[in-house]
Amino acid sequence: MRDPQVLVVGAGAAGLVTAITLGRLGIQTLVIEKRSTTSPFPRATGISLRSMELIRSWGLEPRVRAGEIDVASTARIGGPLTQDEGFETSLGMPSPAEARKISPTTAVAAPQDHLEPVLLDHLGTYDCVEVRFDTELVSLDLILLMVAVGAFVGALAAIASFPVALQILLAAGSSAAMLALVRPNLIKLLHTGPDLVTGTRKLVGQQGVVTEPLSAHNPGRAKLAGEIWSACPYDESMTIAAGQMVEVFAIRGATAYVHPVGELMP
Ligand SMILES: Cc1cc2nc3c(=O)[nH]c(=O)nc-3n(C[C@H](O)[C@H](O)[C@H](O)COP(=O)(O)OP(=O)(O)OC[C@H]3O[C@@H](n4cnc5c(N)ncnc54)[C@H](O)[C@@H]3O)c2cc1C
Repeated sequence: MRDPQVLVVGAGAAGLVTAITLGRLGIQTLVIEKRSTTSPFPRATGISLRSMELIRSWGLEPRVRAGEIDVASTARIGGPLTQDEGFETSLGMPSPAEARKISPTTAVAAPQDHLEPVLLDHLGTYDCVEVRFDTELVSLDLILLMVAVGAFVGALAAIASFPVALQILLAAGSSAAMLALVRPNLIKLLHTGPDLVTGTRKLVGQQGVVTEPLSAHNPGRAKLAGEIWSACPYDESMTIAAGQMVEVFAIRGATAYVHPVGELMP
């Protein structure tokens, strides 16, 4: 991948989930991981109800559950384990019975060394995401790079058999010059990039068609980017008829505020 829009550093649980979310939005994403594989250690085990709902929506629930451990998500507070006193308490996760009342899934206990390969494998289905192992992000502050240039100048001075004092002076002077003159521009270059517009903000400026008439007091519907949205006229004094082409001026909550294409605002 030559020009990723997003660089994700680290293919741990957070990095992989971030990359899946970006992949689903079609955003060109490069994930780099300094290790050669995902974590070989079980580490985090509890996957919350909300996380499982997301995992389910990605079609991964059966594969995650294949690594499920049969444990209750409760904690015990008490003295030494050899003594009986103490009590069991909730870890804050809904029990399976509680979860079933509000969700199509439940929280799961499955270790990280099972979850991460499942997420990684799923990432392989997104053409817009690439994961590179054995790749470490070293630093973006460029200080060491500037000092390295100074050291290189000092080394050249040594090869040329300049006096030691002059070698030190040249090395220090060129490091300082690189830090003061070159680094600020390079940092500015590294930190500027196109604004990433995601989610519903992407709809602003797009055109669609009204499917149910709209007015300020009677919101209607419009088809935008292939989806039906609740819509209102941006100009509250207008009524917009079905079939009219509209442009999205704003998204507030779950409502698109639209204006007829080609008509000037009053
Ligand atoms: C021994 C142990 C036991 C644990 N047990 C539990 C538990 O029982 N329950 C629980 O909830 N949590 C547990 N945790 C914590 C849990 O593992 C972490 O909260 C979780 O891994 C965090 O996920 P993450 O993706 O944010 O970070 P990580 O899993 O740490 O992933 C970050 C990744 O970024 C990579 N990386 C870092 N810097 C760079 C770089 N410059 N360039 C490229 N790659 C880079 C790392 O190699 C790593 O793979 C445990 C952690 C440890 C260490």
